[in-house]
Amino acid sequence: MTDLYNRHRAVLPDWLATYYEHPIEITHGEGRHVWDAAGNRYLDFFGGILTTMTAHALPEVTKAVSEQAGRIIHSSTLYLNRPMVDLAERIVALSGIPDARVFFTTSGTEANDTALLLATAYRRSQQILAMRNSYHGRSFTTVGITGNRGWSPTALSPLQTLYVHGGVRSRGPYAQLSDARFIEACVADLEDLLGQTRDVAALIAEPIQGVGGFTAPPDGLFAAFREVLDRHGILWIADEVQTGWGRTGDHFWGWQAHAENGPPDILTFAKGIGNGMSIGGVVARADVMNCLDANSISTFGGSPVTMAAGLANLNYLLEHDLQGNARRVGGLLLERLRAVGAQCPVVREVRGRGLMIGVELVQPGTDLANPEAAAAVLEAAREGGLLVGKGGGHNTSVLRIAPPLSLNVAEAEAGAAILEQALHTA
Ligand code: PMP
Repeated sequence: MTDLYNRHRAVLPDWLATYYEHPIEITHGEGRHVWDAAGNRYLDFFGGILTTMTAHALPEVTKAVSEQAGRIIHSSTLYLNRPMVDLAERIVALSGIPDARVFFTTSGTEANDTALLLATAYRRSQQILAMRNSYHGRSFTTVGITGNRGWSPTALSPLQTLYVHGGVRSRGPYAQLSDARFIEACVADLEDLLGQTRDVAALIAEPIQGVGGFTAPPDGLFAAFREVLDRHGILWIADEVQTGWGRTGDHFWGWQAHAENGPPDILTFAKGIGNGMSIGGVVARADVMNCLDANSISTFGGSPVTMAAGLANLNYLLEHDLQGNARRVGGLLLERLRAVGAQCPVVREVRGRGLMIGVELVQPGTDLANPEAAAAVLEAAREGGLLVGKGGGHNTSVLRIAPPLSLNVAEAEAGAAILEQALHTA
């Protein structure tokens, strides 16, 4: 064990998990690469959990941060804040939600917590629908709507949560059905559930489940849900913490794969927009956002430095059509990994969209999760010079691939080759 790892273990919580038998210290990065303290270079296919969205050390973002830091780092929302208003205007226009308002937080957890506060206050109900296999954050409210035992350390909750089917396409009781029948079955389950309850506040769902292993329903499921929710006056919250900003290639937001019946009432975001600076936020229809009749504030939310980073990062993303890049390069990578997976009995499924690709590992010939194989592949990939992530239910047997959206074809090829080797080695 390195000295730093010993020190980490001595002063940080046991549940703050690190990757690898010998955890690495990442000291710097550039583009899609990072270096560890021993001088090893890695192709980064996880971006610090989908958070380095455009590229490491992107000069445009670095410049915006240092210029803003040189002027003023903090003033609070008690005073007008130009970068915050600038970014809010951009997000309102991009959100797809009519007459929207934005509230900035410092994390995805706090964004979802705010969404829950809004929905429960607006609807005067503490009942929430969430998806099985979901993840929405680490606070007391958000662990109570997280349908993943491995990430929900207490059963106590200020909310009453009802879990709905549909987030996982290829497992569970409806897995064998066609897409259309799958949606019908999930809608029938939702209707049945609502028939036994009253006054539910909201449904919260990730369009593609992140921590859950990059699983998703067929396109259109949430539009079908929306139709049912509307009949009951129930709000739809899209948790876009992982799926926002074009990562899925086909769409700017994940909810747009389910758009037939209009946008969500509330949308939450975080991770990539600041390219690593701590920005989260919630976008909501004005009547929903403005329903609180007490003051509310996030001291660090909307800080000028993070907002400057977000603006520079968003400009870069849009000017370079990184959504289109995610679609093209992600499409190639998905195809390449599917071909690799077809040759590996340990691979059950290669799935995903854009630069959000999951490789689910099982014990060969079965559907049983294989977390040992996932850990071994993660380790072998690192030895080969590639960082990937893990996730999936509470068994963490899915490799998660989510590089910065500027990934080029040569890098995609190089990463796929390392992963292929790692799968064979492991
Ligand atoms: N929602 C989703 C879908 C997430 O993936 C995460 C983080 N993994 C969160 C919320 C919580 O975000 P944060 O860690 O920034 O609090």
